[in-house]
Amino acid sequence: MRAAARVVVVGGGVVGASVLYHLTKAGWSDVMLIERDELTCGSTWHAAGGMHTVNGDPNVARLQQYTINLYREIERISGQSCGVHLTGGLMLAGTRERLDWLRMAQARGRYLGMELEMLTVEEAARRFPLLDERHFVGAMFDPVEGHVDPYGVTHAYAKSAQIAGAEVVRHTRVVELKQRSDGTWDVITDNGNVHAEHVVNAGGLWAREVGRMVGLELPILAMEHQYLITEEVPQIAGLPEQLHCIDFEGELYLREERGGMLIGTYERAGVPWSPLATPWDFAQSLLPNDLDRIAPSLELAFQHFPALGEVGVRRVVNGPFTFAPDGNPLVGPVKGLRNFWVACGVMAGFSQGGGVGLALSQWMVNGDPGSDIWAMDVGRYGDWATLAYTNAKVRENYSRRFRIRFPNEELPAGRPLRTTPVYDRLREAHAVFGEYCGLEHPLWFAASGAADAREDVTFHRSNAHAHVAEECRAVKERVGLIETSNYGKIEVSGPAAAEWLSQMMANRVPAVGRIALTPMLNDRGKLIGDFTMCRVAADRVLLIGTLAAETYYLRWFERHLPPSGVHVRACAMEHVGLSVAGPGSRSLLQSLVRDDLSNAAFPFLSFRRLDIGMIPALVGRISFTGELGYEIWVSPDYQRALYDLLAGAGAECGLKPFGGRALNSMRIEKGFGTWAREFRPIYGPHEAGLGRFVALEKGEFIGRAAAVDERSRGGELRLVAFAVDAADADAIGDEPIWHESKVVGWVTSGGYGHRVGRSLALGYVPAAIAAANAGFEIEIIGERRPAERLAGCAYDAGGGRMRS
Ligand SMILES: Cc1cc2nc3c(=O)[nH]c(=O)nc-3n(C[C@H](O)[C@H](O)[C@H](O)COP(=O)(O)OP(=O)(O)OC[C@H]3O[C@@H](n4cnc5c(N)ncnc54)[C@H](O)[C@@H]3O)c2cc1C
Repeated sequence: MRAAARVVVVGGGVVGASVLYHLTKAGWSDVMLIERDELTCGSTWHAAGGMHTVNGDPNVARLQQYTINLYREIERISGQSCGVHLTGGLMLAGTRERLDWLRMAQARGRYLGMELEMLTVEEAARRFPLLDERHFVGAMFDPVEGHVDPYGVTHAYAKSAQIAGAEVVRHTRVVELKQRSDGTWDVITDNGNVHAEHVVNAGGLWAREVGRMVGLELPILAMEHQYLITEEVPQIAGLPEQLHCIDFEGELYLREERGGMLIGTYERAGVPWSPLATPWDFAQSLLPNDLDRIAPSLELAFQHFPALGEVGVRRVVNGPFTFAPDGNPLVGPVKGLRNFWVACGVMAGFSQGGGVGLALSQWMVNGDPGSDIWAMDVGRYGDWATLAYTNAKVRENYSRRFRIRFPNEELPAGRPLRTTPVYDRLREAHAVFGEYCGLEHPLWFAASGAADAREDVTFHRSNAHAHVAEECRAVKERVGLIETSNYGKIEVSGPAAAEWLSQMMANRVPAVGRIALTPMLNDRGKLIGDFTMCRVAADRVLLIGTLAAETYYLRWFERHLPPSGVHVRACAMEHVGLSVAGPGSRSLLQSLVRDDLSNAAFPFLSFRRLDIGMIPALVGRISFTGELGYEIWVSPDYQRALYDLLAGAGAECGLKPFGGRALNSMRIEKGFGTWAREFRPIYGPHEAGLGRFVALEKGEFIGRAAAVDERSRGGELRLVAFAVDAADADAIGDEPIWHESKVVGWVTSGGYGHRVGRSLALGYVPAAIAAANAGFEIEIIGERRPAERLAGCAYDAGGGRMRS
């Protein structure tokens, strides 16, 4: 074993082996992998090896495509077969909703170049003769699906890496990780030590334990998972290999295995394995079978695929594998730790392992993952994702693996967890809550309590539609009140704060008492954040951004912090928020403060410390609604008093509480983008319509050269607003945009614009056709609906209402 290496990858499952290979591919050959037993001995060896490209996040889907295409490459380099069976796959729908879901998945696949095909039940039965047509209403076929040999894939990665110079050490356990003052690591093993510049935690089932070696509690939980393999099924004897098949209503997946069928299920009564700590003596091991637990699923399997009930069971496998709360991997560098990286929580190693290895290796070698991997960035979780929260969410996610998540559906596990002081007040006002980063926030308000204050889940407009319309009308005509505590807040302070922020942000840091909106760019000039910068004092700026990205932002900031002069800290819950918006908001607030709030004295984008009644507050004159409005930030102990004061004073002017649904509708009408939808690291500021917030003339800042280049070339894409001739379903995001019968782009956000009375969508199209006046269509649940490109935003394009 080498005594030193540039990188030590801890863990020789499919993920660690992929990371090792990709590091060598990216040019780092002085790398090693340490495995405590044999390669694959964790969750990899007993996997069913299934692989597919469909994923709810298009960027993850792209990495899944990459993974599947990679197998031929590593076979060629290593000479090791991956046992690829590219059979193609069927997704079966048993209900109309599932058929809608499949149509939406097919549409999303269009701009990824996926050739997904909708089939009738009869066509599906011709391709998969085991199914009983009576249980299904349609299906989707994906030619890029199949299975691989887990052993072969892992060894092909490892051998390919070894050929490029990597070392693979087996039967050696990493027992301790000690960081030196220069940021490098002493990797202590039971077989000697290695000095490494970087450590990658690819510990799979033991990723939590490896994390704990450096004081990290990763949000990961292993679940038991069972599949069985039947004896030979006579009905398929002599036929070409059967397709992969997912039966959503049965919550089953199936594939052929040596003339029999492999049947797996994500049962509703899923059971976590070793919820607190993973035993080190578990290697190449399985868990006792528990067929009773999956009996309800098997009964469905025998109804839906009758031939399977007539053959015996050859083998049952029960093995554990890990999940993060949302089911996506955890990848990337970890906030607060230098040179420590994770590649874990990968629940679909044979679809995602290649993409995870690619992204992580790019990140380590080039300082950037090279693609948009927000959906699997470890930085999407914060302190709220504790072990018990993870346990509740993973179990929920596992049991719902094959169930539809409707776009307006809120899931119940682990709730309520984080609440603000006005939570009870909002409940009394019949708020319907959503959960975001563990925090409850109002989505909309029902007319009365209990029975009424719940939303039907649907792909179409829900029972909330009329209520949201009323909320938007109140904001447009009178005044609305919304809780805004679910924004992220980061305080930047110190004598060098403004100078440093000017380097970090594309816009100018505002003067004291002012607000500036700004994109944050990476070195490639792509969007990695959007903030409202509020200058509280000469040496203090409050950044307001996305709560879910707080860890992600802090990680970026700490990478660029000077040794002294700047202090950065997250403070979201120190400043809980209420916002009033609408033409009556000024007179409402004025009735409660001594200061002059006239447009001359407190103009648009002002930010000041004000007393509201007896309550000390920070107040910004800004609103995401596009109306005249104020965002008010107070410490939690004052929030309830503030709510009562505003609600009391507002009663006279028709104040109405409104929620996130109305806010989303109004921000889409205004064309205001938001993180993870319109703003992601695949877009430049010019493309995203943020060019006016990029102050090229102010001098150097991160991403400036690329932003100059983007501006001079014009960028490839353009964010455009559309009015859609929708029926009773609006775009929600990720729908394809057609132009003259070709898919040219994708929707980032959509919804009904209640103030303008139109269905709206925002989305990216190639810059070259962004000004076309006709020929656009947006595909909503399988139907191409005519879409009118709007020259500007749909509502108050001149911005007079928010500035007046
Ligand atoms: C029954 C079952 C069926 C499945 N079917 C599929 C499927 O069809 N398709 C699919 O894509 N996925 C499937 N999976 C999931 C798949 O197995 C995982 O996604 C994959 O194995 C994760 O790989 P990994 O490398 O992250 O973890 P692991 O395989 O657990 O690898 C981690 C490795 O790290 C080593 N390690 C940990 N700590 C240390 C240390 N301190 N020192 C040295 N070494 C250490 C371990 O020994 C282990 O070998 C299935 C899983 C199960 C249980």
